[in-house]
Amino acid sequence: MFNSAYRGRFAPSPTGPLHPGSLLAALGSWLLARHAGGAWGIRIEDVDPPRTVPGASAGQLATLQAFGLDSDFPVVHQSQRGALYQAAIDRLLAQNLAFACHCSRSELAGQHGIHHHCVAHAERPTPAIRLRVPPGSVVGFVDGLRGEVSQDVHAEVGDFVLRRADGCWAYQLAVVVDDHAQGITDVVRGADLLDSTPRQMLLQQALGLPPPRYLHLPLLLDAQGHKLSKSGAAAPVDPAAPLPALQQAWAWLGQEPAALAGCATISQWLERAVAHFDPARLPPQDIVITPLG
Ligand code: GLU
Repeated sequence: MFNSAYRGRFAPSPTGPLHPGSLLAALGSWLLARHAGGAWGIRIEDVDPPRTVPGASAGQLATLQAFGLDSDFPVVHQSQRGALYQAAIDRLLAQNLAFACHCSRSELAGQHGIHHHCVAHAERPTPAIRLRVPPGSVVGFVDGLRGEVSQDVHAEVGDFVLRRADGCWAYQLAVVVDDHAQGITDVVRGADLLDSTPRQMLLQQALGLPPPRYLHLPLLLDAQGHKLSKSGAAAPVDPAAPLPALQQAWAWLGQEPAALAGCATISQWLERAVAHFDPARLPPQDIVITPLG
């Protein structure tokens, strides 16, 4: 039986094959869940059709399975969950916490893309829906790895989009609704999402939802400081050779490589990894990968 006080997840967007940085987030979130005796699941975040690559989610799931990282609860696809997102938007609109907005990106360019009040000159057929973020919306939280984080969401982000004018649900809305609906207690993910967390916490407050705990794992960066998966410098992880990739991710997670030497099978490796995993060794800074040779 799992410890019901901890429920984690890995939530890839199906934009391509899994990269070493995604494996690091998947393995890190899995290890933290298992260390706490908790369940862990996979959610496919396919709410952005223009960015979704056909076949990518099946490939990601097959790769995670090859790595022995199986979801403890049914895998959900966000593309199937529009009714939940619409219900959340309806509640926010009814309470005047969200509003329809006709502003285009170019109309907001003069305000650095930050929305504080509508400047649209024309009504477009389908408006975006934004969350109202009034002055003083400063959100602070203690990240499990990076410590205290605080953001003035009004000044730095402004009223943010929940449903885009093209009808797509925004990531910020879908992730908050699903983390709550799936009973997630601990969100463990890459540090590229650290500055999304205050927005998600404001949205939880508006919807009356309790916040989960947050821990943001280090990113893999190239020598120029770009996220490795985006710079194209990293090859995807190879599902045919899971042990070396797991061993590399284990080292990036700051864990003792020798502890797992000689493991012959995935299940043996994962079992020993849970026994030896020490969250205190997780590195709080991003990891710069320098090319070999
Ligand atoms: N789907 C997001 C991504 O792949 C991660 C979302 C999350 O973990 O909250 O970047």
